[in-house]
Amino acid sequence: MAETNGYAGDEWRERAACRDEDPELFFPISEVGLGAKQVDRAKAVCARCPVASECLADALSNGLDFGIFGGMTPRERRSLSRRNTRAVSAERSARD
Ligand code: SF4
Repeated sequence: MAETNGYAGDEWRERAACRDEDPELFFPISEVGLGAKQVDRAKAVCARCPVASECLADALSNGLDFGIFGGMTPRERRSLSRRNTRAVSAERSARD
């Protein structure tokens, strides 16, 4: 079974700060207006989550397109993925 930061499989989920929160909080309809306040409230929960990095890695590896995971919106995760892809490409080009 895969292990992440000492957690086997999905064991990290047991330590999630959002376990006692309303799941709806993490799925705002919009990132602007009232949705922006919801995003901020969800991110505040993620900010105190001991497994935020595991959560973010899971969301990125599974290409989750909706919801706040690892303290990031889908748009922020897409931006991070693009930056990571560019960094890997630049590193490969520098080696070749
Ligand atoms: S980072 Fe946020 S969404 Fe992910 S497990 Fe922690 S509290 Fe939940």
